[in-house]
Amino acid sequence: MNTDAEDLRQFVHGASLDAKARARLEEAVPEEFFTVPGGLTAPDRHALTYERLRRAGLAAPPAGELLADPPALCALLERAAVADPPLFHLMLLHYTLALGPILRFGAGQDGARRARESLESMASFGTLLMTEVGRSNSHLSPRTVARHDPATGGFVLSTPDSRAAKFPTNTAHPDLPKTAAVYATLVHGGEERGVFVFAVPLRGPGGAVPPGVRIVPAPETTGLQVDYAAVLLEDVRVPYEAWLRDGASIGADGAFHDPAGSAAARLTRSMGIAPPVWRAVISASAAITRASAEMLLAHSAGRATLGRLAPRRPLTDYRNQQEAVLGAIASAYALTAVAAHVTTPGPAAGGAAEGAAAEGGPSTAWAPWSAVDRDLALLKAAATVQAQETVSACRVHSGAPGFAAVERLNAYRGLTHAYQNAGGDNELILYDTARAMADLDRYVPPEPGLGPPDDGDLDSPRVWLFLARDAERRMRDRLAGRVEAALRGGEDAFTAWNGNLALAARTATACADRVILEILAAADGAGPRALGPVLRLHALDRLERRAAGLLNEGVVPPGFLDEVWAARRRTCDELAPRAAELAAAFELPAPVTAPAAFLV
Ligand SMILES: Cc1cc2nc3c(=O)[nH]c(=O)nc-3n(C[C@H](O)[C@H](O)[C@H](O)COP(=O)(O)OP(=O)(O)OC[C@H]3O[C@@H](n4cnc5c(N)ncnc54)[C@H](O)[C@@H]3O)c2cc1C
Repeated sequence: MNTDAEDLRQFVHGASLDAKARARLEEAVPEEFFTVPGGLTAPDRHALTYERLRRAGLAAPPAGELLADPPALCALLERAAVADPPLFHLMLLHYTLALGPILRFGAGQDGARRARESLESMASFGTLLMTEVGRSNSHLSPRTVARHDPATGGFVLSTPDSRAAKFPTNTAHPDLPKTAAVYATLVHGGEERGVFVFAVPLRGPGGAVPPGVRIVPAPETTGLQVDYAAVLLEDVRVPYEAWLRDGASIGADGAFHDPAGSAAARLTRSMGIAPPVWRAVISASAAITRASAEMLLAHSAGRATLGRLAPRRPLTDYRNQQEAVLGAIASAYALTAVAAHVTTPGPAAGGAAEGAAAEGGPSTAWAPWSAVDRDLALLKAAATVQAQETVSACRVHSGAPGFAAVERLNAYRGLTHAYQNAGGDNELILYDTARAMADLDRYVPPEPGLGPPDDGDLDSPRVWLFLARDAERRMRDRLAGRVEAALRGGEDAFTAWNGNLALAARTATACADRVILEILAAADGAGPRALGPVLRLHALDRLERRAAGLLNEGVVPPGFLDEVWAARRRTCDELAPRAAELAAAFELPAPVTAPAAFLV
């Protein structure tokens, strides 16, 4: 292998895991998991996914080790995502959203130990009961309550009405054991004390449901195929030990104590399980983008066209397809750089890493996420949007074979689509980010400097950074000014913000762009030489997508797009001969790029 190719391979796979650790994760998700046999009923398909999850969990390192090792957990989850998106989704729930709070909040508790053992041994599968079906932003104030019962010392969990049912949950399969992390508002002495997590067995070994638990299966869906159901808790009694207390307690004298100090701080702490979810979602977004890009290349390379301008000219000679293929590869490398940034141990992995998280983020209005870790939540939103756009473009540019010959691109698209909402709703994250920016709440606007450097040459990372910083700063200033003027003019906070949501979303997106371009500029400086034009292509694509905002803010003059297109054509000419080498560094398992078997 030549040096460039080896450097690229190392960049994609990172240095955090040695060959032995990587091989073990590959054995946990073997090539067999990359295909699903035909003819399964929906419940059989779900059962197969859980059986594969069980096998993966038993073959992988112990859950506690994985959760303490972000690169390893992300590597396992990204392989699952490329193999089969439903497997990724269930695995993410199992490790980060069911076991995560048990390990984090229930350390040393006996009841938590039992739940932990059943999940770690894969005797039970994890499920999350957080979102409630009937109201938006239900995470901020779940209507499901956990009333402390002084007579038994335990709690009674109740869903007040069907609009407060927990949905979606992965609990419909009638035969499979499930253990839930239930988010509920704790009520003690008639007072609401904040949102806490409870470990609750929802289905026993053969799938039997305990008294008071009502599970209502949802109709079959195809976007991301798992066993969705709504769950209602009708006076479900759980022992004191099921409360994942995180240092809070109810003393023998009945006094309630919580080190969080307030219900708002408690909510942020309870949502502090999110950073491992975001890292995994960013890594999986990068991984399925790599897979999609390679599939598009496989579809396009060597394909002839019959267009009358130039019959039999190769498809990739046409700029639209060439830019789609190379743009997808570039997007995959860019997301890989972002994933490496957030999974590498250290401050880059999330400014307010677990523990400090509760106190680290800005105050929020739409969702709890930015309060946990503003930048990591924002990168989750940006990565899933980017993956969604690239995977969708790969599907479209793969024509009918990409839609109808194999399910893979549709399944990746389903996953990226689902995670616009799941794992923290992207739009709400943008609005809370924008509000923190406008209020200068733990946010310092970037300093663009005077005029674009390097004569505005779009090949220079310094120029991309100047444009991104200038746009972010101008948008923030305008947003802050508009909201402030509205409030000064007597509008209430809702009206002042509601009239500015479009600008707010663009302002937060500009912040995400700047953070990503800084990551790319750093990777360009430190990474292999061969990476430079790849990251440049992604930066140019990103600037093209943001051209409307850049023009609107006066950051660039009319004619800017012509310059971007010219720079992109030059970059694509440079990259086109190396497309196969760039994709080879992704090292995807054979089933991902194998030609559709039914025609052979
Ligand atoms: C595939 C999938 C699996 C999931 N799995 C689980 C799970 O296992 N457990 C679990 O607890 N949850 C799960 N979720 C739920 C997920 O957390 C929520 O979908 C997400 O938080 C959005 O909430 P919602 O569905 O109530 O939609 P809504 O909050 O109603 O959002 C709908 C739209 O309205 C917008 N919106 C909402 N509120 C506001 C506002 N105040 N201001 C402006 N715009 C607003 C949103 O941006 C969004 O575009 C899953 C979701 C998906 C898609």
